[in-house]
Amino acid sequence: MKLLKFLLILSIFLEGCSSHNITDTKTPQQSFKPTLILVSFDGVRYDYPSLTQTPALDQIEENGIKANGLKTSFPSKTFPNHLSIVTGLFPENHGIIANRIYDDTTNKFYTLGGNAVTESKWYQGEPIWVTAEKQGLKTATFFWPGSEAKINGFRPTYYKAYEHQFSYEKRVEQILDWLDLSDDKRPQFLTLYFDEPDSSGHRYGPASSEALIALENVDKQLLNLLQGIKSRNLEDKVNLMVVSDHGMTSLSRDKVLFLDDYIDMDNVKIIDYSAVVAIRPREGETESVYQKLKDVHPHMQVYRKGEIPEKYHYNNYKFIQPIIGVLDLGWSATTHSSFDSHTNYPSKGSHGFDPDNQEMNAIFYATGPAFKKGVQLSVIQNTNLYELMCAILKITPAPNDGNLDVFKDVLID
Ligand code: AMP
Ligand code: ZN
Ligand code: ZN
Repeated sequence: MKLLKFLLILSIFLEGCSSHNITDTKTPQQSFKPTLILVSFDGVRYDYPSLTQTPALDQIEENGIKANGLKTSFPSKTFPNHLSIVTGLFPENHGIIANRIYDDTTNKFYTLGGNAVTESKWYQGEPIWVTAEKQGLKTATFFWPGSEAKINGFRPTYYKAYEHQFSYEKRVEQILDWLDLSDDKRPQFLTLYFDEPDSSGHRYGPASSEALIALENVDKQLLNLLQGIKSRNLEDKVNLMVVSDHGMTSLSRDKVLFLDDYIDMDNVKIIDYSAVVAIRPREGETESVYQKLKDVHPHMQVYRKGEIPEKYHYNNYKFIQPIIGVLDLGWSATTHSSFDSHTNYPSKGSHGFDPDNQEMNAIFYATGPAFKKGVQLSVIQNTNLYELMCAILKITPAPNDGNLDVFKDVLID
């Protein structure tokens, strides 16, 4: 009996030793901390994947979750929404209220092409890479709006200045190279961005064959990423979320309104024309310009700053202009001279409109160890994704406008 007890204790002891050995020998797989790759395909309307072949997105849907749509924040433009996704904040709270912002105190503009994207003063929210870096994680961005600026004193450990023409294949290779780094260097949060099919959607129209081919092309890049993850045996270690920032709708030359039919253009500065008209009247002219524009056109709702409907979350920010015109879906605003000299105006497709229009809805897919398989979600608001990403990375979120509850049926814990 004593011998039996001794043998039992010995076997428990030996088992303890061997499992200890296993944890000591760190193969890259076993030491993987929670990891998340966030991929954005610009301008994929919620229904595009159902209109063409997207084997990579299908694979994610089969092995993970898909939402019936990702509702954008107002205005449904690229920079405001990429920032809402990574901060969980509505644009009035993260500060990137448009793709073009005017600071009247310095007479400076924030524009996509300019140096302003690298200046911290425009960013009021905390992107997830900052939340993560603050809490000791490493992060990497292969493009994401805002990722080139130092925000609250932090930048991603690895990031790259935006290069529109940079090879799509090489972007994916870099993500995989980052996953191959040693434990002490490997980022846990990574982003990957592609400008298509947005560019083709503007040029050729939403759901045009060109836009759908562009989607097929970025889906191929995603397939390479999925294969790279699989070949490294990381399918159970790495989470992947695929989003887009907004949808796309058709524009046409007969749905155009002319601001100079109603106001003297010398009395105003138009900061932004597209979908949301941002108007800065001359000193002392705000009320008269408002009275001249309000109710003059059935397809433009005009508001004074502070009176913009609550649903837009678009009142409380210093750089929101004194008068905002919200165009109906598919409408454009311009002046007669500009219209006459630009015969290609407007582009065949665009976005920026009220997110309540289903055509502005984007996509959301996710897979990986954090997610259940084969679950379909209803349409979710994109400000909720920050909370989800923080939960996956096991970090404490900064204050935000989102809610993790919408994901309670899709997360494994
Ligand atoms: P939008 O006008 O809202 O359709 O903006 C889409 C465009 O934003 C893309 O075609 C890119 O040229 C540009 N863009 C996207 N990400 C960045 C970035 N990180 N830095 C500068 N420009 C960008
Ligand atoms: Zn976009
Ligand atoms: Zn666009």
